Amino acid sequence: MAVPKKKTSKSRRDQRRSHHALTAVLAVECSNCGELKKPHHICPHCGHYDGKAVVQSKTAATPAA
Ligand SMILES: [Zn+2]
Repeated sequence: MAVPKKKTSKSRRDQRRSHHALTAVLAVECSNCGELKKPHHICPHCGHYDGKAVVQSKTAATPAA
């Protein structure tokens, strides 16, 4: 097993961890159904993208469940 030769300083350890922060998941409202969806993704609720039905969604046939 590889063993570190020198103790990692607090500074070096914290510099490494400076990249570990999590970012909030970005969400926009779907222009068709108003559900929150990821930007530039097909809406998982109604299957629309850019105002057009792209995929047939299970929930599209039965709106307002
Ligand atoms: Zn939608």
